[in-house]
Amino acid sequence: MHIFREPRITVLARQTFTGAPHIQWQSDSDVPGEAVAEFAGRLCYLSFGADAGFEGGHRLIAGRTTNREYLLNILRTRHGSVLEHAVWTLLLEGVSRALTHELVRHRHFSYSQLSQRYVDESEVGFVLPPEIAEGTAAFEIWKESCERANDEYRALLAEIEEQVKDEPSKTLRRKRARQTARSLLPNAAETKIVVTGNARAWRHFIELRGSPHADTEIRRLAMKTLACLQEEAPNLFGDYRVVGEPGHEYVETEFAGV
Ligand SMILES: Cc1cc2nc3c(=O)[nH]c(=O)nc-3n(C[C@H](O)[C@H](O)[C@H](O)COP(=O)(O)OP(=O)(O)OC[C@H]3O[C@@H](n4cnc5c(N)ncnc54)[C@H](O)[C@@H]3O)c2cc1C
Repeated sequence: MHIFREPRITVLARQTFTGAPHIQWQSDSDVPGEAVAEFAGRLCYLSFGADAGFEGGHRLIAGRTTNREYLLNILRTRHGSVLEHAVWTLLLEGVSRALTHELVRHRHFSYSQLSQRYVDESEVGFVLPPEIAEGTAAFEIWKESCERANDEYRALLAEIEEQVKDEPSKTLRRKRARQTARSLLPNAAETKIVVTGNARAWRHFIELRGSPHADTEIRRLAMKTLACLQEEAPNLFGDYRVVGEPGHEYVETEFAGV
């Protein structure tokens, strides 16, 4: 039985910032998501500088000339819609169906998830809940239960395959068997999901699921997501601090709810 001990996050896609050739302005950030958010914010006030080519364009405001300063002011003034122009697509693996059931409640993300109707889950792995330490009695209970579920999945799959063998469509035959057998898989069954979201939606996810009240597995994912996005775009996610004891970390920011 394959046990997943940590989620894996891969950045699948990020943006390109092409700028507007007729507007004489450049961000000092080479992160496209940061540059496009700054551009969108500056457009609201035509604050690209006096030489940008706009009639009535505003001068740059001292203290808000760099991308870092500009986005910090966006967070401070809660001008959150500007953050929606920065987008990342992440591949999440090694997460449980319990976790993704909570994840998909976030309505501003787009999702594509491994289908348990299409894919044969006979060799499915299981995500070890972070509260369970290996070598303990709790671990033995959990492992035996997953193994049993796996065996029962295979047995039921074989039974239903036999039952629907006259179904002419091979695809439908498989789906009918797999969609029935999957009812025996536990919440710990591993899954994979592609998630696309803008910086505002990612921030909301990190705040809600990086809170001490969140489930430990999704909180661990929120922490890893934060680390990933802080590396991608420090000016959009750098305000978060990770606090708390090792293994019980959570996030804090003075700009929550932007
Ligand atoms: C610790 C914790 C415990 C939870 N326990 C439960 C539980 O026991 N049962 C349960 O069912 N769920 C539970 N949830 C899920 C929770 O209720 C939310 O569904 C989930 O966190 C998604 O966040 P969100 O509602 O802020 O929405 P998102 O979809 O992430 O949307 C972000 C924001 O957009 C706005 N928004 C989005 N859609 C609408 C809308 N239709 N109308 C108005 N505003 C909207 C809101 O301001 C919202 O905060 C829990 C969540 C947490 C973090």
